[in-house]
Amino acid sequence: MTGERTSGAHAPASSTRYVSRRTFGFVEARWLSRFSSHQRHAERYRIDRVFLVGDAAHVHSPAGGQGLNTGVQDAMNLGWKPAAAVHGRAPKWLLDSYHDERHPIGAEVLRRTDLMLRAMSLRARPARAVRKVGMTVALTLPLLHRRIREGMAMTSLAYPAPAPDAHPWAGRPLPGDTLTPVGGAPTHAYELLRDGRFLLIATAAPWSGSGFADAVSGWQDQVRAVSATVAPGGAPWPAVVLVRPDGYVAAASDRVGARTLAELLEPWCGTRKATAAPGGDRRLPRRPSFSRRRPPPDREAGADARTKDRKTERTSDRATERPSDRATDN
Ligand SMILES: Cc1cc2nc3c(=O)[nH]c(=O)nc-3n(C[C@H](O)[C@H](O)[C@H](O)COP(=O)(O)OP(=O)(O)OC[C@H]3O[C@@H](n4cnc5c(N)ncnc54)[C@H](O)[C@@H]3O)c2cc1C
Repeated sequence: MTGERTSGAHAPASSTRYVSRRTFGFVEARWLSRFSSHQRHAERYRIDRVFLVGDAAHVHSPAGGQGLNTGVQDAMNLGWKPAAAVHGRAPKWLLDSYHDERHPIGAEVLRRTDLMLRAMSLRARPARAVRKVGMTVALTLPLLHRRIREGMAMTSLAYPAPAPDAHPWAGRPLPGDTLTPVGGAPTHAYELLRDGRFLLIATAAPWSGSGFADAVSGWQDQVRAVSATVAPGGAPWPAVVLVRPDGYVAAASDRVGARTLAELLEPWCGTRKATAAPGGDRRLPRRPSFSRRRPPPDREAGADARTKDRKTERTSDRATERPSDRATDN
């Protein structure tokens, strides 16, 4: 953003007179800045030890009010990664994943804000009439209305799945459902992330009891394990979900058991420590490929895909079981 302090009690009056030939009664502004709307996108968000976040990485028109939101989400995506690297818990691909995940989002924000600006600055009368009718109709269609709302809030954006066969929830924001941990009070899912560790949420037997924390012993310095029930109303949850410290789903599975736990946790947190002592002998995670671009974000499509995925697993492996009946793979 181009920001410049100007001074002088008459600056606002003279500026507005210069631009619009009127003063609008502005006097004694405390702070003024000059702003010019342009589009810039850094080619790389990371070079060695330097990371670009916020407007330093991407600037665009203020149309739609996306800049601050995007910058804060950049920071959320990045923050826990250098922390993990500093503590020797992260392999190098984790730092590179900041660019891999956020650069496509920055490009998408530039594309959308450019479109919005073009639509807002149409001059020809017929084009403006079409815009007005189009917007009026669009906002009466609930599906389109929801898509616009989610697009503006960026809750529908997803990161590339770490592997082609990843669970459909992987890379998506954790749904903001209400969870009731075993022995605890109902709480918003994101409240459980406050201590900055990964969050492993189990919603199916045999992990629906109080002993679930023991299942992740050896990873507990990095992972908070919570066994919980999910308030009805949202999309059905996988049996177990691993959530990254920034609130995005790292991995999920409809299976339960020790092998599943290792499959979920090892790519992100390394192998289970033999002892709970800090700095135990843990191998670092393998690099996910980040090869697959996500399909256009659509919560509903995601829900359908999840349902399909669960159905496929059940028909192939466990044709008639309910979630609470799932067999373990121990
Ligand atoms: C008119 C306008 C309306 C907007 N409306 C919205 C909106 O409704 N919603 C929304 O989400 N976003 C909006 N934005 C965008 C939003 O303001 C920016 O995206 C956001 O402020 C960027 O935050 P940042 O921390 O990345 O950069 P900045 O806010 O630019 O912060 C960078 C800071 O670094 C300081 N700095 C620069 N160089 C140095 C240096 N060498 N040493 C030390 N400090 C330095 C600067 O002084 C500044 O304080 C709008 C922007 C404009 C211009």
